[in-house]
Amino acid sequence: MAEQTVSPMMQQYFEIKKQHPNEILFYRVGDFYEMFYDDALTASRELELTLTGKSCGKEERAPMCGVPFHSYETYVARLIAKGYKVAICEQMEDPSQAKGLVKRDIIRVVTPGTVIESSMLSEDKNNYLCSVYCKRTRGRWRAGICFADISTGEAYATELNAEKIGAAIITELCRYMPSEILICPPMLDFKDVTAYVKQHTNALVELREDACYKDSVMQTAMTDQFGENWRETLHYEADALVPYAVAAMINYLHETQKHGVERIRTVQNYADAQYMRLSPVTRANLELTETMRGREKKGTLLWVLDKTETSMGKRLLRSWIEQPLVDAEAINRRLGAVQALYTSTMARAELKEALNHVFDIERLTTRILYGSATPREVKALGDTCAMLPQIKAQAAGCSAPLLTALAEQIDPLEDILQGIATAIVDDPPASLKDGGAIRAGYNAEVDELRDIMHGGKGYLSNLEARYREETGIPKLKIGFNKVFGYYIEVSRSYADSVPDSFTRKQTLTTGERYITPELKELENKILGANERLLALEHQLFVDLLNQISAQIVRIQRTASAVAQLDVLASFAEAALQNNYVLPTVDTGDVFEIKEGRHPVIEKMLKNGLFVPNDTLLDEDENRMLLITGPNMAGKSTYMRQNALIALMAQIGSFVPAASAHIGVVDAIFTRVGASDDLAAGQSTFMVEMTEVAEILRSAGKDSLVILDEIGRGTSTFDGMSIARAVVEYICENIGCKTLFATHYHELTSMDKDLHGVKNYNIAVKKRGEDITFLRRIVAGPADDSYGIEVAKLAGLPGSVTRRAHTVLRQLEAAAPGRDNVMQLDFETVEAYNNPSVPSEVMDKLHSVDIETLTPLEALNFLYELKTALDKD
Ligand code: ADP
Ligand code: MG
Repeated sequence: MAEQTVSPMMQQYFEIKKQHPNEILFYRVGDFYEMFYDDALTASRELELTLTGKSCGKEERAPMCGVPFHSYETYVARLIAKGYKVAICEQMEDPSQAKGLVKRDIIRVVTPGTVIESSMLSEDKNNYLCSVYCKRTRGRWRAGICFADISTGEAYATELNAEKIGAAIITELCRYMPSEILICPPMLDFKDVTAYVKQHTNALVELREDACYKDSVMQTAMTDQFGENWRETLHYEADALVPYAVAAMINYLHETQKHGVERIRTVQNYADAQYMRLSPVTRANLELTETMRGREKKGTLLWVLDKTETSMGKRLLRSWIEQPLVDAEAINRRLGAVQALYTSTMARAELKEALNHVFDIERLTTRILYGSATPREVKALGDTCAMLPQIKAQAAGCSAPLLTALAEQIDPLEDILQGIATAIVDDPPASLKDGGAIRAGYNAEVDELRDIMHGGKGYLSNLEARYREETGIPKLKIGFNKVFGYYIEVSRSYADSVPDSFTRKQTLTTGERYITPELKELENKILGANERLLALEHQLFVDLLNQISAQIVRIQRTASAVAQLDVLASFAEAALQNNYVLPTVDTGDVFEIKEGRHPVIEKMLKNGLFVPNDTLLDEDENRMLLITGPNMAGKSTYMRQNALIALMAQIGSFVPAASAHIGVVDAIFTRVGASDDLAAGQSTFMVEMTEVAEILRSAGKDSLVILDEIGRGTSTFDGMSIARAVVEYICENIGCKTLFATHYHELTSMDKDLHGVKNYNIAVKKRGEDITFLRRIVAGPADDSYGIEVAKLAGLPGSVTRRAHTVLRQLEAAAPGRDNVMQLDFETVEAYNNPSVPSEVMDKLHSVDIETLTPLEALNFLYELKTALDKD
């Protein structure tokens, strides 16, 4: 493009655009942000804006579209949501003062992970930016991964050193659900991760160059951000990979943010062993924070438990649900706090009342730091500070160690309250642009300037009165408009009485407008005062923001304690409203629930209709409950309710039961059968088997496994055989607590062969050809599958169900006994379990990660296998 021929402004545009080829450039021109060329085409399409053209000195006009500057946030938000990045280019000087071309510069690049505007964030969700760095050392992949929420300043990181590094990364990603992910080049080869991100998240993936991960780059970034001794203060081992991930993130923030990066003060290390392992599938199946169908909050565990009062509490509740604890002591600390708030009605009510007035100070602090907070928001921080003593007192008054600790963590922030109260008026304006935010008496010059302005109005009315008297024109008026400033207006009929000292400025149909030197002088004084006042108010406000920013650590610590109190009080409230009990949580191996209920389904059903059920699981006699019963009997509900009860207890919540004794569960796995699977399209059987394989590989002795109708995706005999083999494998090799629902009656004979397997069924009452669901779980296998009866309930015509009964009787007469059916397939099962391949080869095959092998390594590997085979 021949840039010489274009207008100077477009030339400036091209220069700036060159530095941001991948972002949509919002180019500030007066009261608009304008977009040109491809950006204009994209934006007009995505935002449904009218595409016009701008003459730019060349023959062809540049494609252009624009948005008003005061409402740009909504447009940026929509582009971000669609996966674009937006560079904001501002006018760096007042166009009216500029000599020649107005100076312009990029002030920020907005990306999904770096948003701080409240209008672009959902208040009840953290917005995480993720950074992953991985490296292969001694033939094994390791990774460092970190997540930061720029809007609140939180940052978390962990080292990953798993056999399946891709799966480990995915597990972390689904724990935090970042909206943007920075990756290093080797990550491109982790096809499982890229596929997961593409299919299951809306996250934007940003590839960083190798240069971003150089030692020197990392050292500089970490030292600048966290000080000389960052390695000690943040507790990083010499060979840790997390620092590379953190450094790449910090540098990315510097590139996109210009300022505000200091919000990240520290990075909290977490070990994945600190939290219950929950696979992505399990999170989705259990509908923890969004439903499977609508992906909405209503109908989820979060929905049932959310009685929080603040946005900070809402976000924390979500993250507690997503990260259940596994340390019994930590769990009991939370439960103790909930118990105290549950019993103390007064404290809970007062606490909730105070929390109700608490503003989102976590995010507000970020905007204060960025200098983008409004006077009204600063006032809200003050109002929040005013509530702190009451919150602190209520927490301190309850006798629970966690509540006492949180009370201590709350700093009443009196100095900040004081600072805001003396500086800002009681009812401040939404924006600073028209002034009026600074309280009278705070600054002498502000008061004086305001006097002049108001006094100025007094001068004006004095002058008006004098002119009326001098000229004898009764309706003479002094008015103001933006074009002429102050003027004297006289109606037409009195035009002759106007003295010569008045200079005519404008003629209207109704009269004439004049000015006088005296009036001009007064005008200068008043307008000057106003301008000076605005500048001064702005300065004082910025000083106040800086004062507050300096206290950021205290505010952050307080905000974190307040958020925790909010969640604990929310648990207490939910327990009370929904009739939950305090569970006993210990490190034992018993899982015993009396009259357990499904927390969500019981709320969906009309009061009292939900039938409670008991559960007993241990690591011996009752390791596996084999649950049979017809479709719609309540098998899935029963299994999920147990998983949810375990999870609720381990986040520190009371549980829907008459009593609950829970030995800590280190992981929950679920596999829901093809019949209930909504992910249509792909081969459901393949998906099912991949998931089962993952469970068999990952589950340990302390895990809780839920298998719901596995084997449905293939023929009956195949399915039954696989189901049986899986049960055997779990019992013999894993020994975890398992709930296994199946409609294959043939499997119920397994309790005779396998230790720890117990049959249960969900009772139905049969009368003639009709059945009623009793929803009660009872010992022993179901006596029938009642498929035809259920079909009848579902409204299949009587002629069809009668015919089905006839066919069934014929089949039963012709077929061999049911017990024989399984026998037929046992040989296959045996062969599967005891392959004639040497175990050494099998082990090698199991442990190899094909995706990370180079062709040469693959060849060597094959050679190794062959050698091992030949040895036998
Ligand atoms: P299955 O897995 O055996 O086919 P589900 O667990 O899907 O059956 O349950 C079917 C329906 O029965 C649920 O949607 C729910 O409305 C109802 N239901 C299940 N368990 C109970 C219960 N304990 N009390 C009341 N209704 C229940
Ligand atoms: Mg089911």
